[in-house]
Amino acid sequence: MTSSLSYVVGPTDPPLIEQTIGQALDTAVARWGAREALVSIHQDVRLTWAEFADAVDAFAAGLLELGLDPGDRVAVWAPNCAEWTIAQFATARAGLIQVNINPAYRTSELEFTLRKVGAKAMICAESFKTSHYVEMVEALLREAEDPLALRHLIKIGGDPRRGWLQFHDVGADTNDGGRSRLASVAAELSNTDAINIQFTSGTTGSPKGATLSHRNVLNNAYFVGRGMGLVQGDRLCIPVPLYHCFGMVMGNLACLMHGATMVYPSAAFDPGAVLRAVELERCTALHGVPTMFIAELEHPEFYRFDLSSLRTGLMAGAPCPIEVMKKVIGRMHMRDVGIAYGMTETSPVSFQTTVDDSLARRVSTIGRVQPHLEVKIVDPATGETAPMGEPGELYTRGYSTMLGYWDDPDKTAEALRDGWMQTGDLAVLDEDGYGSIVGRLKDMIIRGGENIYPRELEDFLFQHPEISEAYVLGVPDHKYGEEVCAWVKRRDRSDLTEEQIIDYCRDRIARHKIPRYLRFVDDFPMTVTGKVQKFAMRQTMIDDLGLDLDGSS
Ligand code: AMP
Repeated sequence: MTSSLSYVVGPTDPPLIEQTIGQALDTAVARWGAREALVSIHQDVRLTWAEFADAVDAFAAGLLELGLDPGDRVAVWAPNCAEWTIAQFATARAGLIQVNINPAYRTSELEFTLRKVGAKAMICAESFKTSHYVEMVEALLREAEDPLALRHLIKIGGDPRRGWLQFHDVGADTNDGGRSRLASVAAELSNTDAINIQFTSGTTGSPKGATLSHRNVLNNAYFVGRGMGLVQGDRLCIPVPLYHCFGMVMGNLACLMHGATMVYPSAAFDPGAVLRAVELERCTALHGVPTMFIAELEHPEFYRFDLSSLRTGLMAGAPCPIEVMKKVIGRMHMRDVGIAYGMTETSPVSFQTTVDDSLARRVSTIGRVQPHLEVKIVDPATGETAPMGEPGELYTRGYSTMLGYWDDPDKTAEALRDGWMQTGDLAVLDEDGYGSIVGRLKDMIIRGGENIYPRELEDFLFQHPEISEAYVLGVPDHKYGEEVCAWVKRRDRSDLTEEQIIDYCRDRIARHKIPRYLRFVDDFPMTVTGKVQKFAMRQTMIDDLGLDLDGSS
């Protein structure tokens, strides 16, 4: 439905699913129990849905036997692995609230999150790369001035260690008593209960714990999978982090709802491992943030891999450049690939292109609003719904809206008004209801009173054949208030100069949008979930160019 105002409502058919994650797992076992549920290549693990559900039930019963009660918070701190997902389903099965901890966190962030939610148990990997998780937890417990609520420490793999239970021992010898306790706990659960807290990666400020229910995430996973044409027998390669909605909802739970196999190529993103996993496991679908697809396409051995099994998948999490989408379709065989847009607080997806959309729309828009959701675009200056076609802040409302930020009524009230989640993203809707993200509210550049949307310029720069990636931001300027700055990564072996880029811009875009500052880089400051940290880039420019915050230089 569309009107002359920027307001759209998604279809209401099929109806929402009113199950808990545990019930959905039972349904999956009944429907496709003998099919593969999970393949973790780097761990050499392969489980059918029936085997996976057994492991989940045993671990869930084990958690209850430790003395945990429904509603207790259980933190999970590990890179991608089978145990992460067993913990995800087991906590939901037992009504415990899983708290996802970013594997890149160090002790001060860990302490903040554990205290904020009062976590009673912690499940963590022993170590990964430069992070020794177990030692960090021990140091925190030893050195913390006030005691934490943590009572149970569970470690994935490695040798036995004092004070820690081994993951595979929890629930390993659970008996009928343990299982019947689990069944009676499960019978009391409601699908509107909180089961997950995700600390939003945020590009600024202290992390906030978006709290989600079974109903939030299961329905989102169902509609996401449906939109990308995921069906029984599909094999979805999941290189995105599980601790983020992209992995655990759009990956894991979408597979649960549609009978697809979750395939993990590696503990953390590695483009070569993704390409190998697709070839070896004959994956039919692949997810990724834009930078992951770029890294896969630019892998030196890209053409050696047989990716012909691929058909679909989603690019999401950050602006998806048209050129990259086109290459994913043309070179990676992902003819049905789509774009999804969302945020943790909305479980996550609210817009998605579907397999039925035209190619042009699939590569250049975020698609249409998801079923059962409402969206409006609000003029930030007036707070009124903007006319169709005018940019403004995107608001979403519906089943997918989080329950709130954990223990943060003020921040919840700031973000949610009358059930509307204020996303902070700037978007435009067209007459047919297709959306486009034009930037972040706080990233919009106002140069001499003219609004400049970084996204438009980024897409433009991307079209240059020698540019691999480009990000555009505003920096303070004495005369105009803000000036346009672009950070550009050139393709391998390109010797493109600043003058050549400016010349390229000159004939093609309005003068006021041509970057005043241009910087060549090899890497961008990024969050693990593929979001470029423009505040860090802005600060670098301010420091390097000696720009004062008041705009003088
Ligand atoms: P997170 O809560 O970490 O999932 O981050 C959500 C944010 O990612 C959104 O508010 C957007 O700024 C950004 N984002 C997600 N998907 C897209 C997309 N398809 N296009 C542009 N930005 C996106």
